[in-house]
Order: sequence, then structure tokens, then C-alpha cells
Amino acid sequence: MNNHERTWGRCLEIIKDNIPLQAFKTWFEPIIPVKLTKNILTIQVPSHFFYEWLEENYIGLLKKVIKKQLGSNGALEYSIVMENNLTKSTPYTVKLPALGTGSSRNSPKTIPLSVTEKQIRNPFIIPGLKKINIESNLNPAYNFDNFIEGDCNRLARASGFAVSNKPGGTAFNPLLIYGGVGLGKTHLANAIGLAIKEQFASKTVLYVQSEKFAHQFIDAIKNQSINDFIHFYQMVDVLIIDDVQFFSGKEKTQDVFFSIFNHLHQNGKQIILTSDKAPVEMKGMEQRLLSRFKWGLSADLSAPDLETRIAILNKKTYGNGIELSKEIVEYLAYSINTNMREMEGALNTLLAQASLNKRAITMDLARQMVDKFVKNTAREVSIEYIQKVVCDYFDLPIEMLKSKTRKREVVQARQISMYFSKKMTKSSLANIGAHCGGKDHATVLHACRTVVNLSETDKRFRLYLDELEKKLSIQ
Ligand code: ADP
Ligand code: MG
Repeated sequence: MNNHERTWGRCLEIIKDNIPLQAFKTWFEPIIPVKLTKNILTIQVPSHFFYEWLEENYIGLLKKVIKKQLGSNGALEYSIVMENNLTKSTPYTVKLPALGTGSSRNSPKTIPLSVTEKQIRNPFIIPGLKKINIESNLNPAYNFDNFIEGDCNRLARASGFAVSNKPGGTAFNPLLIYGGVGLGKTHLANAIGLAIKEQFASKTVLYVQSEKFAHQFIDAIKNQSINDFIHFYQMVDVLIIDDVQFFSGKEKTQDVFFSIFNHLHQNGKQIILTSDKAPVEMKGMEQRLLSRFKWGLSADLSAPDLETRIAILNKKTYGNGIELSKEIVEYLAYSINTNMREMEGALNTLLAQASLNKRAITMDLARQMVDKFVKNTAREVSIEYIQKVVCDYFDLPIEMLKSKTRKREVVQARQISMYFSKKMTKSSLANIGAHCGGKDHATVLHACRTVVNLSETDKRFRLYLDELEKKLSIQ
């Protein structure tokens, strides 16, 4: 390993300890250390925006780590390398302790829009209609007000919010929101569109499913109206394309999207994309398109934590004018932890069942619905649920379990929940450890052995285990 890599590696270690993991992944993992000359460390960042963001948000931390590693004369230099062939590497020097220097943006060339409107056919309306009336196709139910914020979506939500206040005017262009199925990509993309329409009535916002885009394109080929198709899309101010991973392997569609993308981008129009994969994982997507996806910001949505899931459920029930007992809301949130659409589906069926059959919403009914909704393959209890049951049983707050405390009762509860997590879930030892306040896999293994040993020698302990096992397997 070279000197600069080592130095940057040491900086990263400190940085990692000081900021949330997600922020670390987003803003520090993509950085490449380039060289270390005297006490100037050069790091390469993927865009101008990236550099600005670091400067705005992490300059204090960066100064500290650089000073620690390179002494008080240490300096950090940024080399901005865009994956865009038009721009060259542009280094900016940020000498400590001064703040970042100003910079000039590489402004892309502008190609004038050379279309007269009356020639354009709108693929969203019946061919032949002259009037250009672009419907946004936005779903008013998916707005910012009912999009619950949590660690899982903070960056994506914040960047979406920034975009909606200044469409086309931030460095988040394109804004690519990616994450697994049912984690809120469509909701967030819609919310951005709605917020833009609300603030900028004159802007044309268009939301389209990529599948629909692809079909319209095929129709356009059939009808020999490709130019109309392209020109139509080039007219919008804000283009939201949902589920772009659908373009994978569809070369012609990618080509046409590429030219629309370029036109919009060069004219300062906002592009918002969603995908269920990160750009690096999109197979069958042309490189030139992928590199454009990376121009702006890729923000991921991860699975929401328990509190966020509970908040989402509460929001949805409240929106429906219904009140559910805390116990049932918690049960749903504990049981369904990856796909918010499944969680909502279980909730809706539960509400429908209750009102159709005039049955009270009981825990039993909730269990039945969850069983229906969660994929039938032997549903496993979650680590979180095990922890809750164990903590309830021993009357301990769950935070204690995740803390570093070595108090005997807590250690015991922690070990028992590790033991059940190992026994009842498919989680790795490392993952179980991570859920118990960052323990490593060896600690988890040791805990499991201790529990087995104790259960063989200590009758009372055995009783605890049996009772807990019963509670856990009922659900
Ligand atoms: P995706 O497009 O990622 O597959 P959706 O946007 O369709 O997911 O979200 C699935 C459901 O979960 C929607 O009903 C959405 O309203 C809800 N949902 C997901 N995340 C949130 C959130 N943070 N706040 C409120 N509702 C959410
Ligand atoms: Mg979606």
C-alpha cells in the first residue's frame, strides 16, 4: 500500500467513527486517494457537487483528521474527475486552516430547442390532438407530508427536498433514488414532483414509469413518430422516470432515453430517476448512460428501522381515520420489516376484514393477516422481535440490551436473545452481534455456548428458556 493510501486509510478510520455509516458510505467511500506530496494529500472526488458537499458538511472533521495525520501544515487537495468526457480533472486546493477556495463550474454547452410546438404529438394523449397539455401523472397521495423521515431515507429525502426547492438548479441532477422493492422510491419521487408543481406552477413536471416510456417508444417506432416522441419529452422541465432498471438490456430505448437525458440536462432541466439497483449493479445498461446517472447524486433508501415502520403505520392508519391499538401496530411493524408495501397490504387487509366482517381488530386477526401477507415460505421471526420479547420478559428496556453494560441481568438477556436469534433466524453471527450493540461474531458464538451450558446445568435458567421459546414460536 502506498503512503497516500495509508494516510487516507487512517483518516477514514477516524471519519467513520464520527459520522453515520450511511453518510460515510455516500460521501467517503467513493473518494480515491491520489497522492501525498510533502504534506499535501490529494483526493479524487467524482463531481464538483461532491466537493462542495464535503466542504459544506465535513470541512471541520476533515481539518481535524488532516491535522492529526499530517500536522498543522497539512493540506488537502481535491481532484475533481467527472466521468464525463467533456470535463477534465480540475484540482482545487484547500489549504488548512483556510476554508475551501471558490471554483468555477464546468458549464455544459447548451443546445437550443429547435422545435415548434405545434408539430409535437403528445404520447400521453390520443394522436392527432393538437393541444399540448401535459398531465403530470403524479399521485397526490404520495407527498412529502406523509413521507416519514428516518435514518433509512434521510439523505434521499433531504436531497429530494433540495431538488424540489430548486429544480434543475442544484448539483443533484440527475437525482437517482435507489433501493429495494417497497422502500418508498415511487413515493419519494412523486413527492418531489408534487412539491415542484406546488411551488413552480409554470413548470411542466412529468412522471412516467419506465415501462410506459418503453411502450410509448415502441408505438412511436410503429407510427413513425419518433421525433414527436423525443420532442415531447424534451419539452418538460422536470422528468421523473420510475424504475429505470427496466431499461436494462433494451438498447434502443436506452439510446432514445440517452438523447432525451442529454437534451434536458444541458438545458438545466431536472431529471429524477428511481431504480431498484445501485448504478454499479445495473446489468445490461450502457456505460454512457450509467456514467450520466452518476453525474448528480445517487441516494439510497434502505429498509426502515422499527421506529420508522411504526411511524409509517401510524400515519397510514391516521390517514384512514382509524385507530389501532399500539400492540397491533407494533406487531405489524415487528413482523414485516423489509417491504413497506407488504406491511401496508397487511394493514389494509386487516382493516378491510374488520369492517366487512364486523370483527374487532384483534391480535389474532392481525396474526392471520400477517401470515397471509408475508411470503409463505416459513416466516422467520426477526432479531428485533426476539429482542423485544426477551426484554419484555425480563422487564428491561431494549436500549440496555444494545448498550455496553456488563450488568449480570443485562448480559444474560443479551446472551439469550443472541441464542434465539441464532436458533430462529438465518442471520449471520456478525449480523446478530451488530444488533446487540456492535458485538463481534466470536462474542455471539460464546453467548450461544454459554446459554446451552447454563440450560443444561441450571433448572431456573432452563425454565426461562422454555417460556421464552413458547412466546417466540406462537407468533
Ligand atoms: P418502491 O417504489 O420503492 O417499491 P413505494 O414508493 O411504492 O416503494 O412504497 C411502498 C409503500 O410504502 C407506499 O404505500 C408508500 O407510501 C409506503 N412508504 C414507503 N416508505 C415510506 C415512508 N418513509 N413514509 C411513508 N410511507 C412510506
Ligand atoms: Mg416503485
